[in-house]
Amino acid sequence: MLRTLLVKASESPTLRRQVTSRRLTRDVAMRFVAGDNLDAGLDASRALARSGKTVTLDYLGESVTAEHEARAAAKVVLETIDRIGQAGLPAGVSVKPTQMGLRLSPTLCLELLDDIVTAAEAIDQHVTLDMEGSDVTEVTVGLVERLLTAGHREVGCAVQSYLRRTRADVERLSAVGASLRLCKGAYAEPERLAFQSRGEVDANYVACAEYLLADGVYPRIATHDDRLIDHVRNLAVRLGRGRDEFEFQMLYGVRPTLQDALVRDGYRLRVYVPFGDQWYPYFMRRLAERPANVAFFLRALRDT
Ligand SMILES: Cc1cc2nc3c(=O)[nH]c(=O)nc-3n(C[C@H](O)[C@H](O)[C@H](O)COP(=O)(O)OP(=O)(O)OC[C@H]3O[C@@H](n4cnc5c(N)ncnc54)[C@H](O)[C@@H]3O)c2cc1C
Repeated sequence: MLRTLLVKASESPTLRRQVTSRRLTRDVAMRFVAGDNLDAGLDASRALARSGKTVTLDYLGESVTAEHEARAAAKVVLETIDRIGQAGLPAGVSVKPTQMGLRLSPTLCLELLDDIVTAAEAIDQHVTLDMEGSDVTEVTVGLVERLLTAGHREVGCAVQSYLRRTRADVERLSAVGASLRLCKGAYAEPERLAFQSRGEVDANYVACAEYLLADGVYPRIATHDDRLIDHVRNLAVRLGRGRDEFEFQMLYGVRPTLQDALVRDGYRLRVYVPFGDQWYPYFMRRLAERPANVAFFLRALRDT
């Protein structure tokens, strides 16, 4: 219930103005965001690389409403890739299709993604399309299929285990060679489309992970959930998938001690590092994932 409310609040322009205009909320949000600009994202990436992690850099922004906004966002992503290449960082990028104009024109989105994937491939890095709300799941899956069948190699997307369709999407996308990021899902979806109970979401996560570890292309296991991480570690052993043949992924600022422990155990660990000033919806989804974050946030508000 609280989760659904917070996810809905992430779409409210009024709340967005109220939350982002306060210095204090910005400070709290920066627990999950590297900073307002690309330099901050690159600094955070350097620090993570020094501790044995790889990175996926995410220029924050979503659901643009004009073509020039999509083109401007694509320009920042291309600059990000350029700077990653110059610095020799172990970092790819994550991109939200609706930030590249998906809801305005799938053709525009495909054109911008094609440029981004081409640039990333030139420096041997990967592009992951974030998976957003269920209204764009099918078209996002279709974009990945089109980019891969057009000859690209370094592009895949996230898949969300809360969606009933995902187990089939995992097979469909693996068949065209997509490397997938498996996550639970961070939006509010109706029962018709999505499992609502934790048990069902986790069971589908395990089923998808098992398929990916057995037959998928370089699985990217995105979760902070101890039980699922242990399960995946055991599955990988049982299925003969080496520690360098898949990776765990976690969010910047979430469970850093667990991140370090996995690296010490010899696992690959990639951190999702968001940067930019459009942090409001991202921050609200992080609050929604963990009630303790809301309490922390409210305490910080009260203490100002
Ligand atoms: C690298 C990465 C990329 C992602 N990309 C997408 C995407 O493209 N589309 C999408 O819908 N979702 C995405 N997500 C979010 C994901 O769907 C979940 O909402 C989120 O990861 C929480 O689920 P969990 O698997 O960590 O398990 P949970 O059961 O939610 O969390 C397990 C434990 O992790 C800790 N934890 C989890 N979240 C937080 C938090 N926000 N703050 C503090 N502690 C926390 C808590 O200790 C919690 O008990 C991504 C997640 C990761 C890690």
